Amino acid sequence: MCGLCLPHCPTYRKTGSEAESPRGRISLIQAMNSGRLEIDTTLRGHLDNCLLCRACENVCPSGVAFGSLMDDARSALGPNPLAKEQRIPLQDIAIDKKRQRSEANKLWLSDRTGLRAIGRGLGVTRALGLERFEQLAPSIDRPHDWQAYYPARGETRGDVALFTGCFGDMFDQATLDAAIQVLNAYGYGVHVPTTQTCCGALHEHSGQHSQAQQLAQQNLAAFGALNIEAVISCASGCGSQLSEYPQKAGGALAVEDISQFLNRIDWPASQSLRPLNKTVAVHEPCSLRNVLKQTAPVYALLARIPGLNVTPLAGNEFCCGAAGSYMIDHPEMADSLRADKVAAVRQTAPDLLVSSNIGCALHIAAGLRQDKQRIEVIHPVRLLAQQLA
Ligand code: SF4
Ligand code: SF4
Repeated sequence: MCGLCLPHCPTYRKTGSEAESPRGRISLIQAMNSGRLEIDTTLRGHLDNCLLCRACENVCPSGVAFGSLMDDARSALGPNPLAKEQRIPLQDIAIDKKRQRSEANKLWLSDRTGLRAIGRGLGVTRALGLERFEQLAPSIDRPHDWQAYYPARGETRGDVALFTGCFGDMFDQATLDAAIQVLNAYGYGVHVPTTQTCCGALHEHSGQHSQAQQLAQQNLAAFGALNIEAVISCASGCGSQLSEYPQKAGGALAVEDISQFLNRIDWPASQSLRPLNKTVAVHEPCSLRNVLKQTAPVYALLARIPGLNVTPLAGNEFCCGAAGSYMIDHPEMADSLRADKVAAVRQTAPDLLVSSNIGCALHIAAGLRQDKQRIEVIHPVRLLAQQLA
């Protein structure tokens, strides 16, 4: 109850309301759990508006585990009986690989044939309730399936496995391809088990705890059967959920963010990186900063590219508003938080922006497009792969 977390909370900063702060939300949860407060739309609203960015947890001197408090509270709240039907049930898409591939193919095809632009122009996407989703969806290369194993180039130094994720596999196969390319070049064979599934973060943070546990068990079985050095994640949102399986699902995976792994291994002397005389701004996703606590390896990795000027994006301590499905369910707050990032990019004027989380990258890129800033937002490993000599 000290209140030291309040200035670090994005929703408190935007609203100035105690009920939209970590301390206020903890009081609401206590009152709900003790039966002093009935569950109504106001209570739900204050708890739902939390981004679960965990900036509060990161600064709390008493070690209050805010993330799990909020996950448990949402689980206790149960589904909202008054909620409007979600037009795009993201949790359902997240666990359905066939549907992900089919949606990605449709996205690629509609871009290629110009139908996407036509649909937007005629208001078809708006009429279907897909406008928000359509704004976020990037232009993608033709989606492809994965091989079970990608052997190392040259001498093999070990094996790892790649966690593909759900939306990463749909919207950002280029990053996963780049990760495999770099890992192979640096002597690592890469398994991509077909039995892996969504990490469960979307389910966990929306109160579907048992479903999240089932997904965790499936991933523990898929990766646990392999003889590998690490499970590599290219999306810090997924990586943070995988890293908390011991507390959430009673089993552990040796998960590492791709930047963390590449930064700690020895690089073969035969591999070098081509110079790049550009300025890159680094966006630090909350999951990388507050949960995995692995932002330093991103800077260290990019610093290995000769000539590259690497600078942190101003305001990295605050969430961009993406926060899983938050950017779709809470457009007003999500866009207000994103506007601060877009302004910071405009002020820094970098050639490129890197982000280690696909959700943040999509959300910020949509904001930059709206603001007519032609700055690409990519994962750091893509930059590394581009510069491989
Ligand atoms: S998790 Fe983020 S949005 Fe939620 S209370 Fe903590 S700081 Fe605020
Ligand atoms: S969560 Fe921690 S920092 Fe925030 S009010 Fe409670 S004790 Fe203080």
